[in-house]
Amino acid sequence: MIKLHNTKTRRKEEFTPIDPANVRMYVCGPTVYDRAHLGNARPVVVFDVLYRLLKHVYNGKVTYVRNFTDVDDKINAKAAETGRDIRQITDETIKWYHEDMDALGALRPDFEPRATEYIGPMVAMIQGLIDKGHAYEAEGHVLFDVNSYDAYGALSGRRLEDMRAGERVEVADYKRDPMDFVLWKPSTGDQPGWESPWGFGRPGWHIECSAMSLDLLGESFDIHGGGLDLQFPHHENEIAQSCCANPTGDFAHYWLHNEMLQVEGKKMSKSLGNFFTVRDLLEQGVPGEVIRFVLLSTHYRSPMDWTEKKVKEATEALRKWRGLTEGIDPSTNPSPALVAALSDDLNTAAAIAELHKLAKSGDAAKLLASAKILGLLEERLGEWHRPKVKHDQAYTLIGALLRRRHLAKVDKNYSLADQIRNELKKLHISIEDLPNGKTTFEVDDGKEIEFFNSMSIDERRKIWADRLGDDGKTIAIDDLYNGYIGYVVEQVEKALK
Ligand code: AMP
Ligand code: ZN
Repeated sequence: MIKLHNTKTRRKEEFTPIDPANVRMYVCGPTVYDRAHLGNARPVVVFDVLYRLLKHVYNGKVTYVRNFTDVDDKINAKAAETGRDIRQITDETIKWYHEDMDALGALRPDFEPRATEYIGPMVAMIQGLIDKGHAYEAEGHVLFDVNSYDAYGALSGRRLEDMRAGERVEVADYKRDPMDFVLWKPSTGDQPGWESPWGFGRPGWHIECSAMSLDLLGESFDIHGGGLDLQFPHHENEIAQSCCANPTGDFAHYWLHNEMLQVEGKKMSKSLGNFFTVRDLLEQGVPGEVIRFVLLSTHYRSPMDWTEKKVKEATEALRKWRGLTEGIDPSTNPSPALVAALSDDLNTAAAIAELHKLAKSGDAAKLLASAKILGLLEERLGEWHRPKVKHDQAYTLIGALLRRRHLAKVDKNYSLADQIRNELKKLHISIEDLPNGKTTFEVDDGKEIEFFNSMSIDERRKIWADRLGDDGKTIAIDDLYNGYIGYVVEQVEKALK
């Protein structure tokens, strides 16, 4: 039983899908004009965990949609500023977004529609709203008439009078009510635009989510997510549009909002300039998996700060867990306590505490299987953990063999020197003679991991115990690497006898 905090009712509710054979979720995606900042990554990671949990509970039967807003005045401004083509900018930004979110271990949604692919359905929905008396045309614009929808403001708990009082910007005089919002607006000059019954123009921001969710998920679906900053006006407007255009449906049943990632108490945002991008962090050497862990260490409905201390703790925990689970077969069920924590309104902090418990108990298979629901300890995110610098111990292990080859060369016994090189190569260790007379070596990518994967746990433990004096319980990546080198050296020495 999953419970989710529903913004609509301001309560934690039991989650009952409309159709358990197809759980449907929509999350508002990015406006694509620039690299995603770390705040933008928070909803991506949070809803990725929800997606994984739903897939686990409903046997993979989940449809997840997240859009790309590729029509927006910020994109137009960027095109004007750089002299570049809009499509070039949006294509490039989408490619970056995929790279960065992939690096955080986020699964790609089932559908990632672009606004520009949905102009036709948006025009049709706007026309439907006009026909039903919920929208009106004025000076090339089409506006939604908020007074035509009684429930306007219900999601965010605002009343129209209060909203009007809060309106500070000057209101266009073609609006019947200051709170009426734009569905369609005219385009001029080099602004992107499409022909429509109201002239050449482009859609307002909110209508795309209504048109896309209708097409891909239907007029009623289960979950709608996004950052808290979108609750008003964006989500309020989505509800008004969708419920008025499709009165037989009731749009999203559960509304989930993640709190903001903050910098010194303020929302991280492009406009405040207090941001750094996901790419900045990756380039500084913070692994995507560590970023993901930190983002999940705070509950999604609490504001959070990014701190060095959290990065350090996440790195230490992941390093330990990766060592513990290296080469372990995860074919077991995740811990029920972890699933229960996530089912309690996505309590990721409690889920991480459960992973710590599993690590402490030494149940590596369960740790691995459980971590996967959080998108942690996945094979493809583990690159950062593989040894880059050769450990001293490895040099000690292989050193005698390299010296023997060196002496063979001095003696002009080139056949022995070549034999050593070839025997090492057969076992995936390449050596290279440097100009300074020293020799370096390298294990072909992943071979040491393959080697240990082919062994039983007991065989592996014996290797640690025999060769490394380890107790065989906490297996660090360096041990694994050195264990492999030790094995190879033994085999080569046998072959040379
Ligand atoms: P945008 O591209 O600005 O529309 O934002 C894309 C997504 O990131 C939306 O779901 C926003 O709610 C979310 N978002 C933006 N800033 C933050 C932040 N500082 N913390 C958490 N989520 C954010
Ligand atoms: Zn939206």
